[in-house]
Amino acid sequence: MSAPTLTVRNAVYDRDGRACVVCRRVDGLSFQHRRAVGMGGSKIQPGATDGLTLCLPCNEACEHSLQRLALVYGWKVRRWADPGKVPIYSPHEWAWFLLDGMERIEISAVAALDAMHAVYGDEYMQWWTEAIL
Ligand SMILES: [Zn+2]
Repeated sequence: MSAPTLTVRNAVYDRDGRACVVCRRVDGLSFQHRRAVGMGGSKIQPGATDGLTLCLPCNEACEHSLQRLALVYGWKVRRWADPGKVPIYSPHEWAWFLLDGMERIEISAVAALDAMHAVYGDEYMQWWTEAIL
């Protein structure tokens, strides 16, 4: 996946309130690719559903120390999964959302767990255990 267009980047920042979804910083924002960018990238341009607004430290942490948590909370999505079917958790709102381009559709925690299980199966509970317990 290549870099988002400026339009998509700005749309994602607007949708997410121009603050990091994880820590709410408002400076040094970056477009986080929810799906891993493959080796050598690809020609596919990411859409708004593929992206999340994260500050640079949180973006970096999602690739390393927060990797499991990022999967559990939908900030990262397995390469083969549809980001539109994987909800994201917004810690400062204590709420889960499905992303549909510029739209954020709030869903219950139970619906989020169902959605995650539908995409990832029992592997999801394994990540949950590794990330949280
Ligand atoms: Zn942050």
